[in-house]
Amino acid sequence: MLKMHNLSKIYRTDEVETIALNNVNIEINSGEFVAIMGPSGCGKSTLLNIVGMLDNPSEGEYVFLGEDVARYSEAKLANIRKRHIGFIFQSFNLIDELTVAENIELALLYHDIAASERRDRVAAVMDKVGIAHRAKHMPSQLSGGQQQRVAVARAVVGNQSMILADEPTGNLDSAHGQEVMEMLQGLNEEGTTIVMVTHSPAHADYARRTINLFDGQVVTENLRAA
Ligand code: ADP
Ligand code: ADP
Repeated sequence: MLKMHNLSKIYRTDEVETIALNNVNIEINSGEFVAIMGPSGCGKSTLLNIVGMLDNPSEGEYVFLGEDVARYSEAKLANIRKRHIGFIFQSFNLIDELTVAENIELALLYHDIAASERRDRVAAVMDKVGIAHRAKHMPSQLSGGQQQRVAVARAVVGNQSMILADEPTGNLDSAHGQEVMEMLQGLNEEGTTIVMVTHSPAHADYARRTINLFDGQVVTENLRAA
């Protein structure tokens, strides 16, 4: 599905240069569930942002579905991103002024889909994540666990083939965190590729493979038995 070759990301401000990713080589196959771990500041978010085409690498190749997108413009990256990738964040990142259903539907506006079909697909995905009874509520009226269900629905409603999750359980208690992990596990079993940053070893255990970062470099990769 994707391949990074000698990829680096360097942030330059007036006086400082930070090497956030240093010569990273990573390959992720379609259908994998991969956890990314490492101490604060080691480059996890930077890596996820580049995987998700929210940012360009400074050096190296990033091949996504056979295309080297490393030097693509923001507009070109956005076009690929919206068709293929769903995002889940620690802080949910729902739009406060829109209802649950509208938040989910937003992810379909970039696709060429008639309004009636959009409504059907939003209804189906709300059922799937168990949030249908809250369709007309605003995000602020939901618990954290419910908000993350909405975010999961938004991440898959467009049949995105990959979900990128940045500490998806970081703001949830352990019971709701486990629910979200089980939801991700179910989606992975249906074929969705998942790449997840987590600090939780228990949640990393849901992944088949863990990539450990330190100081912007891949230090170890652990495979779990199936
Ligand atoms: P993690 O997600 O593992 O905590 P990050 O990817 O956020 O790590 O950050 C990696 C390094 O890059 C850190 O030293 C961080 O301070 C730096 N960094 C991240 N984003 C920026 C940015 N936009 N500008 C400058 N430095 C940044
Ligand atoms: P987290 O640990 O949850 O990933 P961070 O503190 O690493 O959060 O980063 C939060 C945001 O701030 C990210 O979007 C990152 O790009 C940005 N950021 C992190 N470090 C810096 C920095 N030194 N300068 C500018 N932006 C940064």
